[in-house]
Amino acid sequence: MELDSHGVEQQVSTGALPGWDAVEHHVLVAHERSREHADGVVADYIPILATVDPELFGVCVAEVDGEVHAAGDADVSFSIQSISKAFVYALVCGRLGHEVVRERIGVNNTGLAFNSVVAIELNDGHPMNPMVNAGAIATTALMPGDTAEEQWQAVRDGLSRFAGRPLALDTVVYESEAATNQRNRAIARLLESYGRIELDPLAVVDVYTKQCALLVTARDLAIMGATLADGGINPVTGEQVVSPEVCRDTLAVMASTGLYERSGEWLFEIGLPGKSGVAGGIVTIAPGKGGIGVFSPRLDPAGNSVRGQRATAYLSRALGLNTFASAMHQPRATEKESS
Ligand code: GLU
Repeated sequence: MELDSHGVEQQVSTGALPGWDAVEHHVLVAHERSREHADGVVADYIPILATVDPELFGVCVAEVDGEVHAAGDADVSFSIQSISKAFVYALVCGRLGHEVVRERIGVNNTGLAFNSVVAIELNDGHPMNPMVNAGAIATTALMPGDTAEEQWQAVRDGLSRFAGRPLALDTVVYESEAATNQRNRAIARLLESYGRIELDPLAVVDVYTKQCALLVTARDLAIMGATLADGGINPVTGEQVVSPEVCRDTLAVMASTGLYERSGEWLFEIGLPGKSGVAGGIVTIAPGKGGIGVFSPRLDPAGNSVRGQRATAYLSRALGLNTFASAMHQPRATEKESS
């Protein structure tokens, strides 16, 4: 076994999903039970997102052995939006390593909105974490490539390898956001003023805006999540996309900051790392077991899919995924014998 960056043999937590039939059954039940909830509102600050059918709802689980279970609109495409942040971060972690990304991007929650400018000012220009826009834009700036076009190709190629298929850009979503993303441009300029972005900040925002407009399905998200659950190996293509250490680091950041200002509540209810996006997708990872992808466009006030959270909470409980759940200690054979 390899040593990690701290010179320690990294052991892994264990556990397995229940059998195929049980997972299949619970994915259908998660969809059925959550479908009746019509609360929340569709995002409209990116104008084109407001035109989506709010009733769309897909649920998918991908197991680390490559089995996939889907219910509802699991093959309907939507823009990945903020969920891209987690996967671009993983690619950058692989490139720069644990210590560098911790120092340059950060791993702590801001407690403020994802597009907060105040958070940057309160932290002396530090982007704080890769799941808020400041940290995500600073992370995209660290993707390989000599030009913005090369960086964009590296983002698209990397996320496609997580999904196991070529992901397409939704040019309508990209153009809608590019015309209205003055705030992200301001964030990039502010980072530049603090010396946190060395490239042309507007070119970096353009790559970031394209990365958010990549089209995925709930099925893609489940497979992308299962890749992070499987030590970086895509369970469908068998490709090693990132290392096990990168997966661990990425999941830790997702657990603390993946669900906007509701990250604490998410961890309390669901007990798993996840990342949501304003188009209504959520990816969730059960380390060593699999990934969950959900899509439903109505959002809570923080920007998280309402049905998506309900379906994931159900699956976490029904499939025994909560990483904080434990059963009473069973004495080992030797202890039993001596008592
Ligand atoms: N492209 C969006 C933005 O930067 C992503 C928002 C999100 O999904 O949180 O505003």
